[in-house]
Amino acid sequence: MKVTRDSKSQLEMNFQKAPLRWDILGMFIGTTAVAVLGVPIYGLIFGFTAEAWIAFAVLFSACNMAITTGYHRLWSHKSFNAHWSVRLMLALVGALALENSILKWASDHRRHHGHVDDPYKDPYAATRGFWFSHIGWMLRDYPSAPMDFSNVRDLNKDPIVRWQHKYYLPLAVGINLAVPLGLGLVFGNVPEMMLVAGFLRLVVTHHTTFFINSLAHIIGTRPWSTGNTARDNFILAVLTFGEGYHNYHHAHPSDYRNGIRFWQWDPSKWLIRGLSALGLTHNLRTVSRERQRAVRAQSKSANQSILITTSAETLDAPAAAIHGSASSRPAA
Ligand SMILES: [Zn+2]
Ligand SMILES: [Zn+2]
Repeated sequence: MKVTRDSKSQLEMNFQKAPLRWDILGMFIGTTAVAVLGVPIYGLIFGFTAEAWIAFAVLFSACNMAITTGYHRLWSHKSFNAHWSVRLMLALVGALALENSILKWASDHRRHHGHVDDPYKDPYAATRGFWFSHIGWMLRDYPSAPMDFSNVRDLNKDPIVRWQHKYYLPLAVGINLAVPLGLGLVFGNVPEMMLVAGFLRLVVTHHTTFFINSLAHIIGTRPWSTGNTARDNFILAVLTFGEGYHNYHHAHPSDYRNGIRFWQWDPSKWLIRGLSALGLTHNLRTVSRERQRAVRAQSKSANQSILITTSAETLDAPAAAIHGSASSRPAA
């Protein structure tokens, strides 16, 4: 559909008038206030034990790995298959990360890939700036991120995905209280665990994963495709357990790896491969060198990139998002 100047200004007006999500805003303000004020004040008065920091590191790593391995590579892109026990663990730890249900996360993410950088269709379009792509997109009911699950019908066939979505709120709140509380009771330091392994871990997990929507579309290199704003960034790869090779990922979203070189820091890739050796994951999808070269050559042509953008609008968004957006398709 052609977007005229009038319809564009109407779309922009709808954006500007989008109502605030007070529940989400309250959650972010509350958790950030406890992490930024409560943690240092408590630390200065009482100090922290090593167990609290170890729990922080373990839970932070587990949450980020569950988002990258499960929410992102397994469910959003179907880049491999996993045994039900792995899917259950990823769904539970994913709920601990408090980034919405698998179904909602994958729906937004497939829309992101299908319409990357489009300010009206990409839910976290980096073309709207750092703040919007990082966190702003969640704070209002923007028309680009509707509660529309039409692009994740395939995921609804997974009973673990359905169950996690149905009970998401009590599950996510319950697990975020139970895990740090349980650790605190075991180690005899409940306030410390609640502050460090609970609130601080949650806030750090949030912002490191949000960096992929913001900084990984702003800072870094574009060795694989220049058809969109996605960047490769080693520092972000370290912070997000491999997701920082975002330029490669947007060029080839169906690949279970983001850092395809053996030396590139991608613990999620190593986890998926390790589980495969144990027979717990299978059908690991990769992209051939020929296809990588074809996509790279295609993106180098300015004329081609215009064609790519135009054709992206006519593509079936879910299919393009799971297996490769228009910009990742090789020349026919
Ligand atoms: Zn992206
Ligand atoms: Zn993706």
